[in-house]
Amino acid sequence: MWGGVDPSVSTEKYENNHLIDYIIRGEGEISFLEIIKAKIEELDENKSIGMNRIDRFKKVIEGKKIENLDNLDFVNRDIVSHSNSPNPLLLKEPHFSILTSRACLYNCKFCAPASKKMFGKKIRTRSAENVVQELIYLKDKYGLKSVTFESDNFLQDREWLINFIDCLKKSKLKVNFNIHGRSNNIIKNHDLIKELKILGLIEVFIGIESGSDKMLKYFKKGTSVDMNKKAVNILKNNNIKIQASFISGFPVETKEDIKLTEQFIKENLSNEIFGFSTFVPLPGSFFYEEYKKKGLLFEDSEYSDFNLKKPRIMGVDYYYLSWINFKLFLKYSDSYFSQLSHLIFFVYNIFLISEFYIKYYIKNIIK
Ligand code: SF4
Repeated sequence: MWGGVDPSVSTEKYENNHLIDYIIRGEGEISFLEIIKAKIEELDENKSIGMNRIDRFKKVIEGKKIENLDNLDFVNRDIVSHSNSPNPLLLKEPHFSILTSRACLYNCKFCAPASKKMFGKKIRTRSAENVVQELIYLKDKYGLKSVTFESDNFLQDREWLINFIDCLKKSKLKVNFNIHGRSNNIIKNHDLIKELKILGLIEVFIGIESGSDKMLKYFKKGTSVDMNKKAVNILKNNNIKIQASFISGFPVETKEDIKLTEQFIKENLSNEIFGFSTFVPLPGSFFYEEYKKKGLLFEDSEYSDFNLKKPRIMGVDYYYLSWINFKLFLKYSDSYFSQLSHLIFFVYNIFLISEFYIKYYIKNIIK
């Protein structure tokens, strides 16, 4: 059985694969269980009357949505999880990750609408009580010390947040946590950030994306450079660590735009963690469809190796992006290990980019 984002947004890629019996699009919990139960029944029935297995299900199944996420059992951590922390110095072990909501309101063009295809347009959130109950369960059973809340926008619903703060206070739990937040929501809830800090908020992942307002508009991010600066200051003033992400590699992006990003990092994020990613146009994103229509995608792009900086979009200077990535870490990271690993990545990326272009042009000359 196959599921997840890519099989949900690019189902046709998997339909003819004979190793796959079923593809569940969207949420899988209910449909997965139904298939397993039906299969067991079928096998029992067929055994007793000596018939071949009858297949009641189509290959592609639309996963049924769980309207009330509180109805889901807590994840069985004995089977599917581990308790390693992504950063044991900041988030002590045992560490677990928890999802508090599904779906995302926003439409950032490098990401959406994949999430809406997976989870629908309406945001569903577990009740604050249910989330805190899980924290208590994890504390009692595993001695939980820290948590990552993996939800796309932990700060989006102010009413929920107030309730969560109240429940966590009442529980008297001592747990550190990190969350994903957008700058508009950090600004909107600046007063609550203080309370979250007291309760254990230690780090916020924030998608700043670019130091250029032109690019933020192009992404339809719904934020601005000024908002990002304000959000960063709110977090710094509350002594909360920041993990900022930036995205680059678009045909309309100029060296000037990238310089503005560099300037933003220099002025606002010294001593903070940041990532500078090269955009990979994955199916399910608005930009993938747009660039495909405009004939801007290299045919040979392998979308499965999304970590590598191989060329994907015509008109993007991948050599320059690799250089900037390396330069940023050389200049602004104080970790020698990080600098060394980025030097290795830089050399490797240059090799990959050159290999890609050589193969691409040879293929086109032969054609
Ligand atoms: S980048 Fe984040 S906020 Fe934007 S659409 Fe994706 S999940 Fe939503």
